[in-house]
Amino acid sequence: MSQTYRFFNQSLLAVRLQGCVLLLFLCLSMAQFSTAANGDSYVRDRLQMVDEQLISRGIDDPKVLHAMGSVPRHLFVDKALRKLAYHDGPLPIGHGQTISQPFIVAYMSQIIDLQPGQRVLEIGTGSGYQAAILSELTDKVYTIEIVEPLAKKVDNRFKKLGYHTIKRKQGDGYYGWPEAAPFDAIVVTAAAEYIPPPLLKQLKDGGRMIIPVGSPFRVQHLLLVTKKDGTVRTRKMMAVRFVPFRRSR
Ligand code: SAH
Repeated sequence: MSQTYRFFNQSLLAVRLQGCVLLLFLCLSMAQFSTAANGDSYVRDRLQMVDEQLISRGIDDPKVLHAMGSVPRHLFVDKALRKLAYHDGPLPIGHGQTISQPFIVAYMSQIIDLQPGQRVLEIGTGSGYQAAILSELTDKVYTIEIVEPLAKKVDNRFKKLGYHTIKRKQGDGYYGWPEAAPFDAIVVTAAAEYIPPPLLKQLKDGGRMIIPVGSPFRVQHLLLVTKKDGTVRTRKMMAVRFVPFRRSR
């Protein structure tokens, strides 16, 4: 066996082992959770999603995995779609909008490297699922939705499910939320043609923004935007497809 091949095999084994340990940790805490949350018959589907769609693709932040394993994604879609909630893809949420694929939600949540107590702004509340995941990582989540009926629906959903810490408003997220700025992290969940300057301004020095950029019918890229000592850097992370970023006028 060549040296390189052996090294590759050992690395692969290490990654799988790390994944197993994470999954075991998650199962133990989920066992506790499922007893507490009587009647959540989707625990197994959720854990399978975490293992097969997230850990296997390199999501390894235990806080993100725990959040993805705890938040009841099936309660963020219409009743008729619940059975599909843990499938490996986006789902319609009405008004031509979608709840993002679980992997994308986890990826965006991991890459902003949120610490407890930090402020995060999400543009595009949609179903409220991404905001709910973020609220497991910090108690300072702000989210903006432009489509009024969706914003109203989420209001009820957050109340019903007990997501009381998430601050939300209806409006054009292009302008951000100046009264709550600066933010340690910004997550944009609709594809913009360019990075809205107000969002850049509201990103804290040392902060991170993840945003899909590109035309609606062309290839879009998820950009990681960082700001350090006033210098903004962008890095293309992967090709994606998001619904378009809308404007209020
Ligand atoms: N994060 C959502 C995904 C929603 S899809 C979830 O977890 O379900 C993107 C959302 O962005 C849609 O609901 C769309 O209406 C919203 N959106 C598009 N342009 C926007 C803008 N300028 N400001 C705020 N929300 C916007």
